[in-house]
Amino acid sequence: MKAHDWFIEHRLDYAVRTLGTEELRTFEAHLERCVECRAAVAEAEAELRWLPMGAAPVTPPPGLTRRLAAGVLERGVRRARWLWPAALAASLLLAAGLWTTGRIRIRQLNEEVGRVTAELAQRDARLAAALDTLGAIRTANRVLQARLQVEGREASLVIFEEKRSQRWTVVVHGLPPAPSGERYALWFICEEGMRQGTALPADAAGPAVLVVPIPTDLGAVLAASVTRESVAMTDGMPMKKAEIAHLAL
Ligand SMILES: [Zn+2]
Repeated sequence: MKAHDWFIEHRLDYAVRTLGTEELRTFEAHLERCVECRAAVAEAEAELRWLPMGAAPVTPPPGLTRRLAAGVLERGVRRARWLWPAALAASLLLAAGLWTTGRIRIRQLNEEVGRVTAELAQRDARLAAALDTLGAIRTANRVLQARLQVEGREASLVIFEEKRSQRWTVVVHGLPPAPSGERYALWFICEEGMRQGTALPADAAGPAVLVVPIPTDLGAVLAASVTRESVAMTDGMPMKKAEIAHLAL
């Protein structure tokens, strides 16, 4: 066996840093002189670079690798022959593992994308509604505003009337909880009668915004009336009804 064969067979050992101190020194000294080994080691290192080498390398017992190398050299067994195929197989196994991990990751990412897309669609809808409300407020032909004292609490009501879309955008804030069996409501007082526009939310965390169509079959709207009334109705009218605010147009 030529002296150079030892270096050829230990290129991978060098690349994966398993040479003993003495062997390492010998190999490094040889590398400085041998272009062929430098190229082979560089290639091996490039092949191995992406492998998870984070785990601390196992340090062989002192002299073990030297004894092994000596034995190999004495017997002339070219043990490195199977090392490359073994390393390749390990690489392929690792690559397969990474591939599977990659596929799982991709599925997770797809799920994430689906979730975010659904959330964005919801936000789009809310934003569209908000912009619509804002549009109605900006293009309002008339704004009515009232401050109400209800059971010692101050509440407020703002009505934006938009003629083009025939609707009121109503912003209500600060109504105290209605007594049991009762609720707050907004009524349209028209030339030819009155009609309930919408129930008004009470005890809300912040201002509530409601969009109410303006009735077109009862003549001109003369006023808005805020009532506290019984939920129970007879002949389309609440059984009990008390006006707490009146906004004349
Ligand atoms: Zn060499």
